[in-house]
Amino acid sequence: MRRCIQCGTCSATCPFSHVMDYTPRKIIYLIREGFKEEVMSSFTPWLCASCFSCRVRCPKEIKITDLMYLIKREAIKDNHYPQKAPIVLLTKESVKMIHKNGRISESYLMGIVLLKVSFLKLLRMSGLGLKMLLTGRFTLIPEKIKSRGELKKILAFSNKKVEENSK
Ligand code: SF4
Ligand code: SF4
Repeated sequence: MRRCIQCGTCSATCPFSHVMDYTPRKIIYLIREGFKEEVMSSFTPWLCASCFSCRVRCPKEIKITDLMYLIKREAIKDNHYPQKAPIVLLTKESVKMIHKNGRISESYLMGIVLLKVSFLKLLRMSGLGLKMLLTGRFTLIPEKIKSRGELKKILAFSNKKVEENSK
């Protein structure tokens, strides 16, 4: 990150920088200057679509996308993130579900997120949920893969590698 020349190419190329509270360039700047609180509570990493445009165009080859993942992981670890933001909950619950079941049951996931964001919203969506349930497009039982033990090993290995690479 010390190599960053603050050229702003990452922010200019990012398709979501206009809705981020801090652009990717600013995130790098804030990290470098030690503004941990601002970085950890920022919506920016949660809005990152992992499109890798910034990473490809950065003249200093800084791994900005990896950095966004690192911030998210740290924020979840420290329980320090925008708590009720649906996008944060969605990410957190998706990761939890993949680690536990090996796959995401989308309808089940949406139910959990809606319940945590707002019980009222869940009630409003219940009609649609019931219709989907009756047509077999919604399941109340999360789907699971068979080799979950092997998946756990792969994920642990990949997490270790990501941490090593982001140092
Ligand atoms: S594109 Fe790279 S060098 Fe330019 S501001 Fe972004 S991270 Fe820094
Ligand atoms: S990887 Fe994330 S931060 Fe980088 S350009 Fe894409 S959305 Fe923006």
